[in-house]
This record gives sequence, C-alpha cells and structure tokens, in this order.
Amino acid sequence: MGKDAKEKDEGQKPFDSTRDPAWAQRVDTWDWLSRDEETKAKEGPCPRCNHQISVLETQVVGARLLTLGVATPGPAKRYAACNCGVKHPETPDGEIGCGANGLINRAEDR
Ligand SMILES: [Zn+2]
Ligand SMILES: [Zn+2]
Repeated sequence: MGKDAKEKDEGQKPFDSTRDPAWAQRVDTWDWLSRDEETKAKEGPCPRCNHQISVLETQVVGARLLTLGVATPGPAKRYAACNCGVKHPETPDGEIGCGANGLINRAEDR
C-alpha cells in the first residue's frame, strides 16, 4: 500500500488566530483553581482543537493596581489563547496551539 497518510495530522485544524467569542465563552465555563497564593489556573480541552490547554493568572497584578489607587478594576476581561503544544498545520514560527483566542473573564478572589 501507499503511505500512511492517516497517521499524519489528518483532521487537525490549521492554525487560525481569528478571535472567537464562542471560544472564550467555553473557556469561561471552566473553574479557576488555585495553584498557589498568587496564581490561579484553569485547564480543559481547547474548544476549537480539543487538545488540553491551560490558562494562568497571577493575582499580583490586581494587587498592584489597588496600591496605585485605581478605583475601578478596568476591563474585566483578559486575553487568552490556545497553547495546546500540538503542532497544527500552517502554524507560524514562534506561535503555539491552534491559534484560537478570545477575551475571557478574569479569575476573581472571592
Ligand atoms: Zn491543538
Ligand atoms: Zn486549540
């Protein structure tokens, strides 16, 4: 038989960094878990490529804003992107993941 084309990245989505609100909405449904006192993280399957990804958030940034006397927390959203580590077709040099990205809600200290 010929070559094993099926073992290659067949079905693997090509890199696409178009911002996708639906992607961010799915990531927003994952729970933030505390890694340590200052770091929160969430993990789950990327809604676009289904590979495992993780998002980290450090709380120090917010604390610093408070000491500066900033009353409003500013935009509640932050940028996040797929970092699955799987090589997708057409991934530019230096990029990682499938390119999916969006603005997700920040981890909140309750
Ligand atoms: Zn992926
Ligand atoms: Zn992905």
